[in-house]
Amino acid sequence: MSIIRKKNSLEKRFLRGEYLNNIWQVGLNLLFPPPRSCLICGRKLPDNTLIEICQLCLEQLPLVGDCFCRQCGRPLAVVAPKTRPLGEMRCFDCARTRHFFVQNRAVGIYSGPLKEQIQELKYHYNRRLGIGLGQIMGLVAEARGWVPEKAHLLAVPLHRERLHQRGYNQAELLMQGMESVLETPSLESHTVIRRAATGASSGLSPKERRANLRGVFQVPRPGEVAGKVLCIIDDIYTTGATLDELARTLLQAGAEAVHGLTLSIAVDDQHLLGNDFK
Ligand SMILES: [Zn+2]
Ligand SMILES: [Zn+2]
Repeated sequence: MSIIRKKNSLEKRFLRGEYLNNIWQVGLNLLFPPPRSCLICGRKLPDNTLIEICQLCLEQLPLVGDCFCRQCGRPLAVVAPKTRPLGEMRCFDCARTRHFFVQNRAVGIYSGPLKEQIQELKYHYNRRLGIGLGQIMGLVAEARGWVPEKAHLLAVPLHRERLHQRGYNQAELLMQGMESVLETPSLESHTVIRRAATGASSGLSPKERRANLRGVFQVPRPGEVAGKVLCIIDDIYTTGATLDELARTLLQAGAEAVHGLTLSIAVDDQHLLGNDFK
């Protein structure tokens, strides 16, 4: 008994020491802020930068240009003929799929440096990078008019087991980054819950992905989404199956409309060529 008490008091003393250390560190940081460095390359940043990512790294991110599918936001390689305005262009997938979401917009293409950073965010416990990438998302989306009017942001939920494994929800970090640069309000992460962890969806056809996701989302308190325009935040749009299932669930719960905004979008040659794909 006494040994336990002794151990507890030692632990407490240690914790108190740690706590005081933290306060000391916070105080020092306030007086002498550490130099800010780029979250991607580590270069020193000027003091007045809003985002902790340097200009050189920003310029290397493959952003989506002006020619993209008006439904899912996927870049289209084929320039629209003059008879067909940009506003009506659809990719092959969207031309034949009925989507539940109004539209999705993707900031960049899932390739090169952006793909590397998303993998770093998802698999290397890099929370600050998530916030930085979310700030880029917010600024680009605002500049391009991609944040729907009167919208509430909502991050795609992770199943709690996956959340436990990863330690955080990457979509929520992106949303936090967006919130720091935009005025748009957001909804709490538990507004929607993900009921079952789905297995890896890569390698599945779009139809199989849809079947795999059917019914996984649940809105415990529909009053929180009823009548609202929602903008769903995620790190990547691939076939749109996740966004569609989430949109279907939210509309059923009474949401007025569901839009999507993703940091990246997967592009493959089959899409660009407009051929059938698996
Ligand atoms: Zn950099
Ligand atoms: Zn499309």
